Amino acid sequence: MRALQLLDNRSLAVVDLPDAPSPAPGEVTVAIGAVALNHIDVWGWRGMAFAKRKLPIVIGAEAAGTVIAVGADVSMKPGQVVALFGAETCGKCAACLDGRDNFCENVAGIRGFHVDGLARERITLPARLVVAAPEGVSVVEAACAPITYGTVEHMLFDNAHLEYGQTVLIQAGGSGIGTAAIQLAKAVGATVITTVSTEDKAAKAKALGADHVINYKEDRFEGVVRKLTKKQGVDVVFEHVGPDTFAQSMFCLKRGGTLVTCGSTTGVSTESDPIAFATAFLSLGLPLAVSTAAATSKSASDGPSC
Ligand SMILES: [Zn+2]
Repeated sequence: MRALQLLDNRSLAVVDLPDAPSPAPGEVTVAIGAVALNHIDVWGWRGMAFAKRKLPIVIGAEAAGTVIAVGADVSMKPGQVVALFGAETCGKCAACLDGRDNFCENVAGIRGFHVDGLARERITLPARLVVAAPEGVSVVEAACAPITYGTVEHMLFDNAHLEYGQTVLIQAGGSGIGTAAIQLAKAVGATVITTVSTEDKAAKAKALGADHVINYKEDRFEGVVRKLTKKQGVDVVFEHVGPDTFAQSMFCLKRGGTLVTCGSTTGVSTESDPIAFATAFLSLGLPLAVSTAAATSKSASDGPSC
């Protein structure tokens, strides 16, 4: 079968690989119909010195397809549209048994980055790593769910507990993960403030439902957030930009607010001011929470958490 392989940094080729094996008990074979492109694919293609992996590797961290064969003890049926989990987890550790594969203690790695990925015609894998798409969802639509929407769901709702009536600052509303965050935050009735770099992206963010759009090239977003929230700050900050925004993002939080992050597209390190945070938050005896989405999640991250 054909597969798209990374032979060396910045060198991709379509290659011929042995076909996927017949499914063993507990496994399914899926005909891949669509593969999504994420930032981690770009990092993987470009090469990252600290990533532990051996080339060549089949690329593709996020994909969907159609079930074509099932092993014993599998309830799925051939023909079902499914999305595939983007990491190879053990299925045996406490986290996996609890349904939180993103915290697997023995994870082999992210598909397409550390271990062979999903840009291939067929794959056989454990049924527990395959999620059936709801009726009416196409293969192409399902292919962008596991990483992009899964990460956002994990960040906004599992970790930050964003609720109806709260306010969230979503950084980079024109990005893939930013657009997903706007949609999911609006779906629960939150007020969305988002940042963009161009008028074109501002129009798109508004079309997705964002309540307030800040062009950060024209205005300091932290100042606008302060005005919009009447100096209160937001309940949740959705970060993934990193050094360009991180410190200011922290100061957009209200007392007791939560910052969640899953990546750092503008660099690898940033400075923060713990004294200022302590003055602003902790001296008031109010909790300040920061959490990160796990890299290999049902929600696998699009950040450089490798
Ligand atoms: Zn595990």
